[in-house]
Parts: sequence; C-alpha cells; structure tokens
Amino acid sequence: MQIKTANRLNAVRPSSILGLVQKAKSMAAQGLPIIDLGIGEPDFDTPDHIQMAGKLAVSYGKTKYTPVPGSIETRQAIMRKFERENRLTYTADEVTVTGGAKQAIYNALMATLSPGDEVIIPAPYWSSYPDMVALAEGTPVILDCPQEQRFLLNPERLEKAITPKTRWLILNSPSNPTGNIYRSKDLRAIAEVLNRHPHVMVLSDDIYEHLMFDGLTFCSILNVAPELQDRVLVVNGVSKAFAMTGWRLGYAAGPKDLIKAMNTVQGQSTSHASSIAQAATVAALDGPTDFFATRAASFQERRDLVVNALGILEGIEMLRPEGAFYVFPRCAGLLGKLTPKGKTLKTDVDVCDWLLDDHYVSCVPGAAFGLSPQIRISTASSKDNLQEACKRITTAVKSLKGAS
Ligand code: PLP
Repeated sequence: MQIKTANRLNAVRPSSILGLVQKAKSMAAQGLPIIDLGIGEPDFDTPDHIQMAGKLAVSYGKTKYTPVPGSIETRQAIMRKFERENRLTYTADEVTVTGGAKQAIYNALMATLSPGDEVIIPAPYWSSYPDMVALAEGTPVILDCPQEQRFLLNPERLEKAITPKTRWLILNSPSNPTGNIYRSKDLRAIAEVLNRHPHVMVLSDDIYEHLMFDGLTFCSILNVAPELQDRVLVVNGVSKAFAMTGWRLGYAAGPKDLIKAMNTVQGQSTSHASSIAQAATVAALDGPTDFFATRAASFQERRDLVVNALGILEGIEMLRPEGAFYVFPRCAGLLGKLTPKGKTLKTDVDVCDWLLDDHYVSCVPGAAFGLSPQIRISTASSKDNLQEACKRITTAVKSLKGAS
C-alpha cells in the first residue's frame, strides 16, 4: 500500500545535514578515514556529578510520570538559573520543560501558528526553524543577513518585513551556523522596531549562551528591552552547555498564556520530558559551572586553529566567530574552479561533496542554513582532527585549477 502522507509534510524539506552526515557515516563504515566536521554537539562528556544525578534518579525511583510542564523541582532550578545568570524573574507557570530546546521551539510554533501566519527568520539560520514553521503550517519569511553585515539582522529590513500576519521573530545568539553574537546595542535597535509592532512575539534561542569567546558576555533581548517581557519566549537547554545532547532536555520561559498553550501541545504529544533527564538537569543547573570557562576556552582555541589555517586560503573568506562551535566561511572564490578529477564546483553543495568524496572531510553547505555560498565547519572535534582536516582542505583548495 502506498502511504499517503499529510499535506503539511509537503512543505518540509528533507534535512540536507542529515543526508550528509549519513553519507559521511557510511563512508567511515567502509573504512575510509573520514573526519566529520558536520556534527553539532560538544565532544565532551556529561560532567560526572550530572551523570551521577541521572543514575541516582533511576535508583530512587524517579522513573514515573511528571507533570506536563516538568516537575516543580526542575522548574524551580530553571527559575533559579534565569534569576542568577540572566537577571530574569519567572514564576513556575511561566516555565516549561521539554524534550530538548528543539521541542520547546516546536511546541511554541504549533501552539501559536495558524495557516498563513508568518515567522521572520534571519538567514543564515539553524536549519530546523523554517521546517518547523512549515510543519506548523506557518510561512517562514527569510531575511538574508550576509557576511558583510556580520550575519546580523538589519533593523530597517526587519521593519519592512513585518506585516499584520507576522507572529514571531526568531533570534539566535550566539548563532548556529555563524557563531556570531548580537551585542546589546544590536538587540536594542531590534527592540525599537518591535516596540512599533506590538503584535510580534520574539523567540530568543539562547542555547549557545555559555559558549562565548574573547571575554564577551551574554546579553538577552530582555536585558536591554524589559518592556518586551510579555511577548518574549526564552528558549534554552542543557544540550550544549552541559554536553547533554542525548538526554533531550530543554526549557522555555515566557508569558503564562503562551506557556499554557505550549503545555497543551506537549500534553498530547510527549506528555513531558524524561523524569531522569529532569533530575539530572536539576544537578546541572544548581551545580558547579566552573567548567563553562575551560570548555569555552577550548572551543576558542580550536576556532583560532581553524580560522588561522583556512582564513589565509585564496577563495575563502571568513569572520572570526565570537561563540558557539562553528566557523562559517564564504567559499565564493572556489566556485567556477575545476577539481583535479575534472569536476567544476558550482555551488557550496558541490564544494562539500568534493571535500567529502575526494578529501574525506565532512562539512555542511551554507545552503542548509539559507545562505550560500558558505560552508559550516564544526570545531567540536579534537585538535588533531581539526589540524588534519585543515591540512586536507588546504591541499584540496590548492589543487583547484582556474575557471573552466
Ligand atoms: N537551537 C539551535 C540554534 C541549535 O543549534 C540546536 C541544536 O543543534 C537546538 C536549538 C536544539 O537543541 P536541543 O538539543 O536542546 O534540542
């Protein structure tokens, strides 16, 4: 029988990242020496005390259903985190715990979008945003933020893009895939625009909050524009900061009615985040965080390694990212060139295919993030791997012949 899928799936693109990751994995399984720089997760272990809290949760029977928005202990730990780290005050009914930050975003969009509602997404973006909007039957409105603009949203562009149908603006800082950061003055300029459009909500995806470099400190839009409190949803989670990607634990805080609507979506889908991951998250959020600095320093060192090695190559131009664990160089100068095997590189997808097929380095094309021609290189890999990958990319770039 041929399965007829729901119409709402038609607008969802197959994940190009997953496609590439799969290809790299199957090449590695064939014994090829692949270096996978396509991944988006820290290469550290979950800290011991958090692991232990998860184990104890199992031993002490914290293995039962919790309330839909998460146990009160987890929500209180999240409230303390917001108070302590972000100077943001929430009550327990303004917080919800989800199966990863991804589910918080999905719940919010499902709970608020009707067909035709618009969501403004600055590009480059985390590739799930437009697809989640489409799945919720909304319309993604993509605003290009090129490298010359440091990948930041221009307030005038934002103003022009807002229509009566705009429901959300999605902000992500530090950003996946660029690693760039909105400073307080950038956020204030955006808030000025939003103050003229009181029907637009903001989804602030702060998942890379603790991965910032060069002494920069994190700033939330609510810190510079507290007047937006009744329409900002802050999304965060433990995946990146605590190396807990597989635990699937995220959270969101925002206006009570929005959180209630998100809980309705969650109550009829997953019910709640894992009780064990919730217990581990209390230990994570209430526990020591001195390793944030050492981990950020380690990612900064690896960023420098990659930027110093690849930034000097002809045909590649890049900014030095300020956070997260990606570099996102423009590869326009490689397009039109001929590989030794006689293939002309026409797009960033071609560049990534060529690097994988001929040089065994896996990266993700900018096309997956809505801005081409760029490539995303994850620095969440060992220094040895990064050094070897940079060597291979250098050899690859130098092997290209002029325009065909
Ligand atoms: N937001 C951004 C920008 C991300 O890059 C990711 C994961 O890659 C997520 C959200 C999802 O994180 P989680 O693992 O908590 O679902």
